[in-house]
Amino acid sequence: MQNIVIVGASLAGTRAAETLRSGGFTGTITMVGAETHMPYDRPPLSKNYLAGDWDEERVALRKPEVLEELHLTWKLGVAATSLDTTAQSVTLADGATIAYDGLIIATGGDVRRLPNQPNIKGVHTLRTLDDATALRNEITEGTRVVVIGAGFIGLEAAATAKKRGADITVLEGLEAPLIRAIGAEMGAAIGAVHERNGVNVRCGVQVASIDGDATVTGVTLTNGETIPADVVIVGIGVSPATTWLEGSGLTLRDGVVCNANLNAGPQTVFVAGDVLRWPNGLFADVEADMRVEHWTNAAEQGAVAATNLLAALNGTEQAPYEAVPFFWSDQFDARIQCLGRPSSNARVDVVAGNPADGKWCSIYSVNDRLTAVLGVSQPKLVMPSRTLLSTHTLREDALAHFARVTAPPPPAA
Ligand code: FAD
Ligand code: NAP
Repeated sequence: MQNIVIVGASLAGTRAAETLRSGGFTGTITMVGAETHMPYDRPPLSKNYLAGDWDEERVALRKPEVLEELHLTWKLGVAATSLDTTAQSVTLADGATIAYDGLIIATGGDVRRLPNQPNIKGVHTLRTLDDATALRNEITEGTRVVVIGAGFIGLEAAATAKKRGADITVLEGLEAPLIRAIGAEMGAAIGAVHERNGVNVRCGVQVASIDGDATVTGVTLTNGETIPADVVIVGIGVSPATTWLEGSGLTLRDGVVCNANLNAGPQTVFVAGDVLRWPNGLFADVEADMRVEHWTNAAEQGAVAATNLLAALNGTEQAPYEAVPFFWSDQFDARIQCLGRPSSNARVDVVAGNPADGKWCSIYSVNDRLTAVLGVSQPKLVMPSRTLLSTHTLREDALAHFARVTAPPPPAA
């Protein structure tokens, strides 16, 4: 009887457990999770759940009866603190040690905090269900919310809080929102969507301090200006949750570095989700390796890591994870969808609609090779372009493709 341990009881971990069972694994699967909750879905935490439209039951990743059928051994509310790949064991914060024949690491990301971030009422980060519950309890009509960081968390939370009647100011250090994610031009267009909806988006400003004694009162900028606040949301990114792996011998470089099969070095240790850095064969010509912090990636990698772990245990052939990354984001009535890698150094062409109208599609290319397709409320253009991205289409051929598919139909004879 073999024992597989999955560290990280969230999206990638749950998909891995399901795949192990559907792949015929009948041994023990131990799910280790730092949080006390059964696996839940994070995207609603900044959207429907934060809005108060969904309850806790609705954000569960799987219904309890579905999880029961997987016959998993749960160790929740206790973090893994170290890994010994020679002894093949994981040590937990409660001192317990679990031996494994196979290990899947799916510990995701830890939220970053400002160096001087005070731990007082009204100051929030947003990563977990508990974070979202605490935040939604403090947002109501007229609440003055200051969001630090115009990334995905900041902008989604801003849009949701605005819809609840709060008064929102978003602060961003760079000259536009979402620069690292989708580049300055497209980021500015998303910022304009927020401004049209009454959010005060202030770019190129630096935060000096979050103020207040027991309760937050405001945010002071380095120019001396203070913006009053009842609630502050700090959304300045995540770091891959690898602290517990220091000293394990695994290669850590902004994530756990793996090969194309998601293997971390030791034969039966695999990695999936936000914490993984791997060489994605479909983009090898533009990026040696990558780490992706979005839902679809974590779900798919959980399944691939599990399939390859079973292959390693059974001595059969493993397969690489090669994929066109995808994410979506809902902000006001804008449904942002993106396939590929929309780096900020890419050349950007608008191929449909107009960013000024809040509805458009643009393509990204690096060295004249198509690297991403981004659409705002353009699902019919984005999703069918996966093949263009997986086949290294040249920019000019992509432009011709979009000219063809967006051409008005010929007049009826
Ligand atoms: P996580 O979901 O981060 O799970 C990792 C788990 O491991 C956590 O439960 C953590 O507590 C646990 N853990 C960490 N360290 C340890 C340890 N040492 N021992 C034991 N357990 C540990 N993506 C999209 O594409 N679209 C969206 O609209 C979208 N919305 C989002 C909204 C929010 C509010 C957030 C936070 C994320 C959103 N994402 C979205 C991103 C997406 O949810 C993540 O990419 C995905 O959750 C990653 O899954 P994961 O399993 O790799 O990691
Ligand atoms: P993020 O998307 O990486 O954005 C972080 C933002 O904070 C960036 O705009 C960044 O700007 C800014 N920032 C960084 N340090 C700062 C500082 N010291 N002061 C002010 N601003 C600072 O991260 P996030 O928005 O916090 O989201 C967290 C995670 O959740 C990410 O993995 C994200 O992908 C995921 N998520 C995804 C979605 C989605 O896919 N729809 C939705 C929500 C969350 P600089 O460029 O200036 O550093």
